[in-house]
Amino acid sequence: MKLYNFNELLSVAKARDFKAIGSFNLHCLEMLPAFFKAARDTHSPLMIQISTGTAEYLGYKLLVDSVRSLAESEQVPTCLHLDHCSDIASIVTAIDAGFSSVMYDGSHLEMDENIVNTRKVIDIARQRNVSVEAELGAIGGSEDGKAVAEEDITFTTVEDAKRFVDETGVDMLAVSVGTVHGMYTGKAHIQHQRLAEITEATQTPLVLHGGTGVSDEDMRRAVAGGIEKVNVGTEMNVQWVGRCMQTFEKGKVNDSVRKFLIPANNAVTQVLMEKIGLFK
Ligand SMILES: [Zn+2]
Repeated sequence: MKLYNFNELLSVAKARDFKAIGSFNLHCLEMLPAFFKAARDTHSPLMIQISTGTAEYLGYKLLVDSVRSLAESEQVPTCLHLDHCSDIASIVTAIDAGFSSVMYDGSHLEMDENIVNTRKVIDIARQRNVSVEAELGAIGGSEDGKAVAEEDITFTTVEDAKRFVDETGVDMLAVSVGTVHGMYTGKAHIQHQRLAEITEATQTPLVLHGGTGVSDEDMRRAVAGGIEKVNVGTEMNVQWVGRCMQTFEKGKVNDSVRKFLIPANNAVTQVLMEKIGLFK
């Protein structure tokens, strides 16, 4: 089964009455069947995103082969996306391995340079039917080791977003509208007015990063206000590690390791199903 790019997956999602797609970070291969179980049980398409660190840990090709295999056996339309990558060579590696979507993150650069690099990535990706996400503004928190301090958060402006989309034709744009990466205690405050104005000005699918720290009510509002891709990363990791800490603590060294992981995987499935339920 072929992997879907973001635009193709969004069409499937809309046809099944979803307003947005959750894009879920896979942290280890053991979590993968748990993702597919959630998608199958909710009759949802599935978007799996991989940090460059995880891709290097597991191998790009192993990820593509595993995801393709499960997409086929579970009959789930699936998109495999490279999350936050500011290195064009790694993006090419991912595309060559068979990823169907990539994010070029030039949000730390000046706007002009971000535009030039995003266009370079789009030129490479379009030839292979791969979708491209870019980012404008600085989202707080840390992702894959690179931290943005609270005082360095810059919200995306309507004017910048419009210019960026006009000059790049990017498939989806990550915006900084109040969410924070890695937040799992407390809740973010989304700037819904800013979001509505950016949606109106760009007419392009917008991406909300830091979905773990968003309340259910805020999430529904954001999705109604133009967000079409919601990144959820931290929550699966928190649930998985939390359960494993309990099961490993209680277990014996000659128990099958499977016994320790099943409750962790079930918790991950639960997170995905709850989030997916908010996108209807
Ligand atoms: Zn992010």
